Amino acid sequence: MARITMKFGGTSVGDADALRRAAGIVRQAVDERHQVVVVTSAMAGVTNLLIEGARTASQGDGARYTAIVHALQVKHDEAIEALIEDPAEAQSLSDMIYGLINQFAAFCAGMYILREASDRAMAAVSALGERMCAPLLAALLRQTGLPSQPLDASALLITDDQYLNAGVLPADSEPTVRRGVLPLLERGVVPVITGFIGATRQGVVTTLGRSGSDYSATLFGAFLHSDEVWIWTDVDGVMTADPRVISGARVIPVISYAEVGEMAHYGAKVLHSKTVQPLVERNIPLRVRNSFNSAHPGTLITNEANATPGTVKAVTAIRDVSLITVAGRGMIGVPGIAARTFTAVAKQNANVLMITQSSSEQSICFVVPEDKSRTVVEAIENELAVEFGRQDIDRAWADNDVEIITVVGAGMRRQPGVAARVFGALGERDVNIIAIAQGSGDFCLSMVVNARDTEAAVSQIHKLVVLNGRENHPGSSPPGANGAADPQSAPQNASEGERLP
Ligand code: ADP
Ligand code: ASP
Ligand code: MG
Repeated sequence: MARITMKFGGTSVGDADALRRAAGIVRQAVDERHQVVVVTSAMAGVTNLLIEGARTASQGDGARYTAIVHALQVKHDEAIEALIEDPAEAQSLSDMIYGLINQFAAFCAGMYILREASDRAMAAVSALGERMCAPLLAALLRQTGLPSQPLDASALLITDDQYLNAGVLPADSEPTVRRGVLPLLERGVVPVITGFIGATRQGVVTTLGRSGSDYSATLFGAFLHSDEVWIWTDVDGVMTADPRVISGARVIPVISYAEVGEMAHYGAKVLHSKTVQPLVERNIPLRVRNSFNSAHPGTLITNEANATPGTVKAVTAIRDVSLITVAGRGMIGVPGIAARTFTAVAKQNANVLMITQSSSEQSICFVVPEDKSRTVVEAIENELAVEFGRQDIDRAWADNDVEIITVVGAGMRRQPGVAARVFGALGERDVNIIAIAQGSGDFCLSMVVNARDTEAAVSQIHKLVVLNGRENHPGSSPPGANGAADPQSAPQNASEGERLP
């Protein structure tokens, strides 16, 4: 018997059919004698609607949130009606979900009157979708004959008070999670836990950031000492590129925590950027699988860095970023400019995605999310006002018309010439590279390019990935199988497959 924590993403619980499939997947795992912990997202689109309702209300629009109240009722009612046979059970579910939708309406009414939406209020609103979905999925599991109980993660995960991007406090959370969940497992009950949310020590609801249910799943998986964590989504696994952008993107059968961590950090939407963190220390395997195609083995993610041979394994892109440059001849040799610059940036709570510095020290460039670019430039101008006055620094400015392209692959560490091949491929399509950085683990190479060049850049680099992939090993089969390909069989030298297309 293995303990498996499985998370269902929004589309995997998006309507009655999807919920039925999700319940079937849980049922099958229990029938195979696994102990299952379920973590669920909100139904697809619900979190977006909640946030939109709150935002428009706070901007003085009283009509939009009222329409959203109606849409949320219809969506959940349709699922209940299609799925839940027992009228009393259907009624009590419906009442419970109406109660949460009424809370949403009350929050929006308050925001409408105040013309304000604080982070704390936005977190309370965003959390409602998961709180509506978990009882529905638990009721469906009970109907299929599995004892099941919904659990609200705001009573389990203890976080700091960054309400919309909360940090989980592991020392506080682990015992609370174990106390809350293990007794159910011992009684053979399948817990269905809300993803995405937690609460401060004072009990104020927080969220773990958009797409945070992936992170919830691995936190619960780690705290409950699960044997494996499975993330059920709407594609066959982690792919070599975003399948919506590159039609030839392929599933990667096996990949390491470090590589997938870089992919998630640099924009691969399939996983929240912190997803692998809780698993690494305990070495718990993670699988990404398709709830619409459960026969496919998906992607296995482990600590085996060379599990899949080949140098360039995947390419990702991050949009909506801004390249900040601080430049001036007088910067040469003046100590502390970089430290002061980044301290000023940190005070704006801006996440720095990559950094480069010209060797002559005449400029520092770094990338932040676009919505922070104006406050970041202002903060730098304030911090370095004296140096600006002396003209040691000429200018600090933001270029919003850029994207970061990242090439990921553990083999890049020992493989000379990868950068040359990547740059050569981009040169063929006249893609101009504005800035470059290599990750500290040497697992990735990031480049800033003009937004208009992104598609060409991603598709050129993906050609290198595909050529590499010809040597890839076939997939592994869950559960339990370690599936890792033999690293010895990985080609150590540049092979035919790694030449430029
Ligand atoms: P969920 O609701 O299950 O969490 P998401 O929409 O958050 O699903 O993530 C899955 C989506 O991520 C896929 O439908 C796919 O379009 C997109 N995606 C982007 N990059 C990748 C990638 N490298 N591999 C797989 N999917 C990716
Ligand atoms: N429902 C949340 C979101 O849409 C969390 C998640 O789905 O992972 O961001
Ligand atoms: Mg997601």
